[in-house]
Amino acid sequence: DPRLPRISSAIRVIPDFPKPGIMFQDITTLLLDTKAFKDTIDLFVERYRDQNISVVAGVEARGFIFGPPIALAIGAKFVPMRKPNKLPGEVISEEYSLEYGTDKMEMHVGAVQAGDRALVIDDLIATGGTLCAAIKLLERVGAQVVECACVIELPELKGREKLTGKPLFVLVKGA
Ligand code: IMP
Repeated sequence: DPRLPRISSAIRVIPDFPKPGIMFQDITTLLLDTKAFKDTIDLFVERYRDQNISVVAGVEARGFIFGPPIALAIGAKFVPMRKPNKLPGEVISEEYSLEYGTDKMEMHVGAVQAGDRALVIDDLIATGGTLCAAIKLLERVGAQVVECACVIELPELKGREKLTGKPLFVLVKGA
């Protein structure tokens, strides 16, 4: 697709952020390129509009940027998957491991029902731990995770293999 190279070049890579050795994929420059940002949303909408998706679950924080415009365009509800102690209502939570230590992801009880068809969206998949936690939360309430989608995949980290067989759709690859 001719839109993909432009999306790829609109993503800025910042070496040694947030710590030495990390090549940080910065999507804020993609948001400044009005054509590339629209193309990004359009590519997801084209893929998911006819798949009866009832929930777009966006992972904090950058899943909150890409998720809502997709949800609006395909007529699905948007559900935020948040860092701990941010959501005010009753939540269910899932722990997952980071490079050092663990983190937790939370979702409001009642936001997603059994039988919902969910798309999980984030900006980037690295080790896959984050998306895996989101999948578990959705499946615990009986939703069907149709697919996970990210703008960027870091293929060397093999996060795709951690998704318990769920399909993963990405637009571009980073290193
Ligand atoms: P994972 O759990 O190892 O797959 O890490 C993915 C999570 O870390 C996502 O929520 C990303 O937003 C974040 N992340 C990791 N590396 C980067 C990066 O280079 N750019 C932007 N986000 C990143």
